Amino acid sequence: MDECDAIVVGAGPNGLAAAVVLARAGLSVRVYERENAIGGGARTEELTLPGFLHDLCSAVHPQALSSGFFRAFELEKRVSFIVPEISYAHPLDDGRSGIAWRDLDRTVDGLGVDGAAWKRLLGPLVRHADQVAQFAGSQVLQLPRHPITLARLGVRILEQGSRGWNLRFHDDLAPAMLTGVNVHAIRPVPSLSTAAAGLVLATTGHARGWPIPIGGSRSITDAMADDLLSHGGEIVTGTEITSIAELPPARVILFDVTPRALSRIAGDRLPDRYRRSLDRFRYGNAVAKVDFALSGPVPWTDDRLAAAATLHVGGTRQEMETSEADVAAGRHPQDPYVLVSQPTPFDPSRAPEGKHVLWAYTHVPRGSVEDRTEAITAKIERYAPGFRDTILASVSRSAVDVERHNPNYIGGDIAAGDVTVTQLLARPVLSATPWRTAARGLYLCSSSTPPGPAVHGLAGYYAAMTALRDEFGVTRRPFLGLQE
Ligand SMILES: Cc1cc2nc3c(=O)[nH]c(=O)nc-3n(C[C@H](O)[C@H](O)[C@H](O)COP(=O)(O)OP(=O)(O)OC[C@H]3O[C@@H](n4cnc5c(N)ncnc54)[C@H](O)[C@@H]3O)c2cc1C
Repeated sequence: MDECDAIVVGAGPNGLAAAVVLARAGLSVRVYERENAIGGGARTEELTLPGFLHDLCSAVHPQALSSGFFRAFELEKRVSFIVPEISYAHPLDDGRSGIAWRDLDRTVDGLGVDGAAWKRLLGPLVRHADQVAQFAGSQVLQLPRHPITLARLGVRILEQGSRGWNLRFHDDLAPAMLTGVNVHAIRPVPSLSTAAAGLVLATTGHARGWPIPIGGSRSITDAMADDLLSHGGEIVTGTEITSIAELPPARVILFDVTPRALSRIAGDRLPDRYRRSLDRFRYGNAVAKVDFALSGPVPWTDDRLAAAATLHVGGTRQEMETSEADVAAGRHPQDPYVLVSQPTPFDPSRAPEGKHVLWAYTHVPRGSVEDRTEAITAKIERYAPGFRDTILASVSRSAVDVERHNPNYIGGDIAAGDVTVTQLLARPVLSATPWRTAARGLYLCSSSTPPGPAVHGLAGYYAAMTALRDEFGVTRRPFLGLQE
């Protein structure tokens, strides 16, 4: 293959974001992807039955409208999103549910005795949601641009990340709702990193909502690939890079891979000390996923849940504390937390008329080989009796299957690196520019770098801007929008 200015290894959201930025700066760019399809953690395919389109990994995109990269890229004009009135819902046993409406006040009204506490917790963050999003999407080691908002967030993280987390609440609904969001980080609760993740996500839920793209998550990565190709970039699929020696000459190479993979692929170009730091980076616990094709909508006991695209099916705060502690101890919880996405009520294009798809995963110890179909089905059935009878087909992926499908998810860790406070600061190394490796011209751009997991493209954007500055003297962000 011919030489080019820039190579990107991996066509996930971050790899594609990096490639778009580099191509928009006028560089010749080539992307190598091991799979036959692009998209990494944002792919949509027929998985169960003909006509049923399933999101293989990501399904819900709280950062699609708030990520600085996607805003500059004008993603909202390229992809149609549904922003449900309900950002997420959380059923409990007695038929009650916590509903996180996009409208904060409506949520507060539904929380009875804890409504005011919810408002005091989230109201000040929601009022400054853009600043919260800016902080969450930045490099933690940078000087904060909005110190007062950061202080407000920090105080709340300290509270919800500690044993004092129940002090402001009297009932079980509001704490369950918040915990259901916190445990997205797949770590024991309470803890600071889960509280941080949860408060940021809950803030987004009330400020901008949790959108889902029409056509599924691949719409997002397809939009990036289209932009790349229309600016002269190339994408080579079905090509796994196992050594840097396999690549043609390029001024810069950006890797949308884990630190462990980078160490293996580029090991002899990296100083020993840096390589040892990459090898010390730790991976977290995992998910096991099941995709369902359904004959009809899920028969939730609380029929308001039909209008929620995202559901946290985890029971009370205490139940989730137990299930996440089990996972951390290497056990499969008997009564697991299940994250559910039901896109078809909002996007009927994903299933034949009248039929539905359902996306669900649960947390398991890293490296688990267990098929969790029955555990997930039973948990949903508890809040939706009759669910089992609607299942036409299902496809299960254990944690090791998740890694087999994408080596970035080591042992099934979908965050590509444990989300601890230490690893939020040093992701994967302690540096103001962690995307730059210790070898000239080599950069890391995956979610193993700041700002961490989720589909936001920001790690790719930051890595590309670092490479542009270092090697090409470009300091201004190229225009990324639709029309100049
Ligand atoms: C089951 C699951 C559910 C998720 N749910 C959500 C969600 O609802 N919302 C959300 O925002 N995020 C979600 N995520 C997380 C999100 O998908 C990831 O954080 C995001 O995709 C990370 O993007 P990335 O570009 O860093 O890496 P990835 O998306 O993992 O892409 C990496 C790409 O590099 C390729 N690659 C790796 N090694 C090589 C190599 N050596 N040579 C060539 N190619 C290589 C891979 O095949 C892959 O295409 C979920 C993830 C999973 C797995």
